[in-house]
Amino acid sequence: MPALLQKHSALTTESKNGDKKETKKMGMNYERQLAIPAELKEMYPLTAKMNAAIQERRAKLESIFEGRDNRLILIIGPCSADNEDSVMDYIGRLVGVQENVADKVFIVPRIYTNKPRTTAEGYKGMLHQPDPTEKPNLFKGIEATRHMHMRAVMETGFACADEMLYTENYAYLDDLLIYVAVGARSVEDQQHRLTSSGISVPVGMKNPTSGDYKVMMNAISAAQNSHTFIYRGWQVHSDGNKHTHAILRGYTDQHGSMKPNYHYEDLVRLCDVYDEMKLDNPGLIVDTNHCNSNKNPFEQRRIIKEVLHSARHDERIAAILKGFMIESYIEDGAQEPGGGCYGKSITDPCLGWEKTEKLIYEIADLL
Ligand code: PEP
Ligand code: MN
Repeated sequence: MPALLQKHSALTTESKNGDKKETKKMGMNYERQLAIPAELKEMYPLTAKMNAAIQERRAKLESIFEGRDNRLILIIGPCSADNEDSVMDYIGRLVGVQENVADKVFIVPRIYTNKPRTTAEGYKGMLHQPDPTEKPNLFKGIEATRHMHMRAVMETGFACADEMLYTENYAYLDDLLIYVAVGARSVEDQQHRLTSSGISVPVGMKNPTSGDYKVMMNAISAAQNSHTFIYRGWQVHSDGNKHTHAILRGYTDQHGSMKPNYHYEDLVRLCDVYDEMKLDNPGLIVDTNHCNSNKNPFEQRRIIKEVLHSARHDERIAAILKGFMIESYIEDGAQEPGGGCYGKSITDPCLGWEKTEKLIYEIADLL
């Protein structure tokens, strides 16, 4: 066997006769080899009907980012999708609302499957802990995340959004998602920017936690261009993603205080930067929670109204504003993992269902 292959096979935990092999490299135990994306997709394939639903919603979303459709996008759902049943229950409630506001609002449920706590201590999201009260199990985690996104399409027709927290894992879901966000802590990372350039659905680049627009704009520019780079052990060449755009989520100042960036002046400044940089499809999603709301989910309604007012006042803002990212779940607020309250966030506090439903109708009335 060539040396390179021999080295690769040493990384599997099972030998040909089924004995466990102990492998340790660099201070890490190689515990188990996971299914590759092609294997997982073979285990959980899309049906033709599911694929058609996904392609239809992808095309609609793209037309909004290209300015051919004026509907407002709402990327909406819990901070982290911690429990398949309550997430499906939540998304199921969105179906009727979407039908009622279909001429004005385009809903993309947020199914965030790898959302960790900010310090990465404790709960790390469904990908790592399909059961939040048990130890990490990534083998089950990659299955659970694909299963949940598939169930959303099958049961509701909604294809959803997820955050690309770990670039290599995106390949497990690339046929299912219609929207991808790159988080405030990842937006400066080269691998996230390069991978985004090879994603064929809209990618939202969040401003970094420092609030620096330049970092976010450089990420958008990098992702809109094509690149040659390493992805999952391959040399790849990307097409460039012309639907990459900005997400303003507020920031933290040098004293650790949360500051908003959804006010009129912040939005005008983004218009100016877009004018200078001449990117394709200049777009903005305003994240109404996180540092914009000081993590008070009940502020989201007021923030949306203010931003819509700014857009009415200034046509440059109206032209780039594509929608909002809202943290919402069945119950108001948040609880500790294992807290036992059905449909209540175990990461950032969310707006509960009753207030959410009212808010979506209010938004549609304002458009
Ligand atoms: C989130 O979207 O839940 C989140 C925590 O994002 P950010 O990267 O803006 O902190
Ligand atoms: Mn959150």
